[in-house]
Amino acid sequence: MIQFIDVVKSYEQGNNALNGVTMQIEDGEFCFLVGPSGSGKSTIIKLITGELKPTSGAVHVNGYSLERIRKREIPYLRRTVGVVFQDFRLIDKMTVYENVAFAMRVVGAREKEIKERVPYVLELVGLEGKMSRHPHEMSGGEQQRLAIARALVNNPSTIIADEPTGNLDPERSFEIMALLQEINNLGTTVLVVTHAQNLVELFNKRVIAIDEGLVVSDGTEEENEDEAE
Ligand code: ADP
Repeated sequence: MIQFIDVVKSYEQGNNALNGVTMQIEDGEFCFLVGPSGSGKSTIIKLITGELKPTSGAVHVNGYSLERIRKREIPYLRRTVGVVFQDFRLIDKMTVYENVAFAMRVVGAREKEIKERVPYVLELVGLEGKMSRHPHEMSGGEQQRLAIARALVNNPSTIIADEPTGNLDPERSFEIMALLQEINNLGTTVLVVTHAQNLVELFNKRVIAIDEGLVVSDGTEEENEDEAE
């Protein structure tokens, strides 16, 4: 579960990035986080992963309290949250297989587990035939799938995808969203951070909208329409 209670975050220089955010995402949910540039989306991601600490308020993520987490606990928190970064952060000199295997090696997985798990997640994202390619030999959509496989490989309970369709055409974007939905159906909590309003409308899911560091609406499109009536 991800829970923010009246979270304020101010950076040393500049205004407050978050001005009292309260929201809760239950285990197993699929949820969009939307908002214009500068509204606080990246700050929310960094608070969830323990990269930043809240200035005030409480952040609870998968059993950890981020406002008082110890440094040595952060790697354990991060194993519960797989992040798919906007710029993928793939390692170009490694093959597809090695990029995913590496994420398991850094957390100390055994070779036997790696050999079983890596082909499984690559199949899940539809890259089973491309294990010995290198990232630069793949399309943007395939690189995005690889980034998703890597985020999934250590079996996190939550996946956060930061603008997963930022550089993709509409058809590939739809496929990536469908893949994230399938991953959600397998039990992983999925949070998709995006400004792609058209995609958000295609998938009738919960949408948390933020603006100027505050939650301005929260619910499915249909619920919000009902409220407006
Ligand atoms: P988004 O991801 O929605 O574009 P951010 O969370 O990056 O928004 O930023 C929210 C606000 O905080 C913006 O006004 C931004 O300028 C400010 N901000 C973000 N990072 C820093 C930083 N390291 N130092 C100072 N201000 C920052």
